[in-house]
Amino acid sequence: MAHEPKPEAAPRRVTILGSSGSIGCNTVDLIERDPEAFEVVALTANRRVSVLAEQARRLRPQRAVIGDETLYGDLKEALSGTGVEAAAGTAAVVEAAEMPSDWVMSAIVGAAGLDGTLAAVRRGAVIGLANKETLVCAGSLMMAEIARHGATLLPVDSEHNAIYQVLDFDNPEGVDRIILTCSGGPFRSLPREEMADATPQQAVAHPNWSMGAKISVDSATLMNKGLELIEAHHLFGLPEARIDIIIHPQSVIHSMVSYIDGSVLAQMGDPDMRTPIAYTLAWPARMRAPVRRLDLAEIAQLTFEAPDPERFPALRLARQALQSGGAAPTVLNAANEVAVHSFLEGRVGFLEIARIVERTLTTVAAPALESLDHVRAVDREARQVATRAAAGEH
Ligand code: NAD
Ligand code: MG
Repeated sequence: MAHEPKPEAAPRRVTILGSSGSIGCNTVDLIERDPEAFEVVALTANRRVSVLAEQARRLRPQRAVIGDETLYGDLKEALSGTGVEAAAGTAAVVEAAEMPSDWVMSAIVGAAGLDGTLAAVRRGAVIGLANKETLVCAGSLMMAEIARHGATLLPVDSEHNAIYQVLDFDNPEGVDRIILTCSGGPFRSLPREEMADATPQQAVAHPNWSMGAKISVDSATLMNKGLELIEAHHLFGLPEARIDIIIHPQSVIHSMVSYIDGSVLAQMGDPDMRTPIAYTLAWPARMRAPVRRLDLAEIAQLTFEAPDPERFPALRLARQALQSGGAAPTVLNAANEVAVHSFLEGRVGFLEIARIVERTLTTVAAPALESLDHVRAVDREARQVATRAAAGEH
């Protein structure tokens, strides 16, 4: 997978799935700074009509899509006079991904992003993949679809983007291990007893990154790193035992690859998602991103520590799910989505998140995944079991 810059006709035609979110808004920000280089085909959001309409007024895509059908009238009205077509509903989000474009940002949160990502894969697009849950719940089937349709998957997740930049794809036998760095989240040094009372507000206050609510909670439980372990396994083809996790509170080294000769290559940068997004947006070239330059003298110290499996059981659950294989990661992901949602709504405590996931993993059968419909069926069943677990029923 050589990164040879090849000339492409400008402007690059782009679609953003989940444009109203944290990753989506950062993608829009980069595009607006280089308007000559991009032509926007479609934007989608789930409920935030005003953000979507505002983006559409500025970027003038062919179409803007709102996932929640009841908001169609509001979107149509907000777009009147712009010439931007309005559409609504889950199927319309997938249709947006099917519209001809060169590049698609997959930035819908959760397994809800699966069908749109798949639609872009099936027409062989270049995809900036932020939506890690897609690879967690359907990894091997997804990678097979990518190979079959000649699509290009460029990881946006900062750790995977780092590995993508330093991994020698032409000499896989020289790779020893992948080392995922992890900030440790807002509760890195909090005793477990105190985690029991953690509020959603405390959990979403990440020390280094500004992100959507779901991934922020995942970063507090360290389930985010568990999901990233599974994501890395599918993207780079290494077994679970050869993917390490190390806590690095400064979030300057975004991840590393160690080679059999003892070399360790790292990608570094200020913690700003616009760097990995820009990497995928301009790939195989580079574009300027308005991020702070790394000032190592000012940072002065980079520190590292081993993760604590006692205080963060989510890491163990994710490793076990990846080792079990089959549908276990699908169950893990679905249960986690339900548990995080319940926590954010104040219905369960912080420590319940991992307990709900564990209970669901022991209840739902996880056979080998046969098809994407099978993934959807397992996902549904796991959500039902996790919902009962969250309600305190067994
Ligand atoms: P977010 O909550 O800020 O945004 C989510 C987007 O998805 C919004 O545009 C929302 O409208 C849309 N959406 C939500 N549910 C939907 C549904 N059912 N149907 C259609 N659209 C729906 O989330 P985010 O922080 O931008 O994260 C997006 C994805 O990127 C997640 O998978 C996350 O794990 C991943 N990611 C995010 C970051 C980050 O810095 N924010 C970093 C790495 C990876
Ligand atoms: Mg990450």
